[in-house]
Amino acid sequence: MTVFDNGVPAVAKLDPALLGALRRAATDAKDGGVEFVVNSGWRSPKYQEELLREAVSKYGSEKAAARWVAIADKSLHVSGDAVDIGPSGAAAWLSKHGAKYGLCQIYGNEPWHYELRPEAIDDGCPPKYADPTKDPRMRR
Ligand SMILES: [Zn+2]
Repeated sequence: MTVFDNGVPAVAKLDPALLGALRRAATDAKDGGVEFVVNSGWRSPKYQEELLREAVSKYGSEKAAARWVAIADKSLHVSGDAVDIGPSGAAAWLSKHGAKYGLCQIYGNEPWHYELRPEAIDDGCPPKYADPTKDPRMRR
């Protein structure tokens, strides 16, 4: 799906300010021949729990899974404040130009995961957390 797919809840239920920034960035990127794909946007709490269950079985423990998938009530995807952008060329474009739109990579281990940081337009993006377990928002 793209950031323009209004009929898809994963896109339509994103925070409007985040979605606006993504659409501006996607439009400019497209001029340069780069197409954004939304691999994951808003997620229902139920879907987030499913992802976490899958990650626990893949990575062996809830602790290991936490480096990749947040619990539902902490996930920025469930609140509509995060988006996973692909393919890697689009993520690379965002890593170079995203700050101009207030779009920032948050985790060093997730080059595809972007959130809105309006202050980045003036100040640049804040330092990244190595992974979600280092993010104070993810503490239980
Ligand atoms: Zn993400």
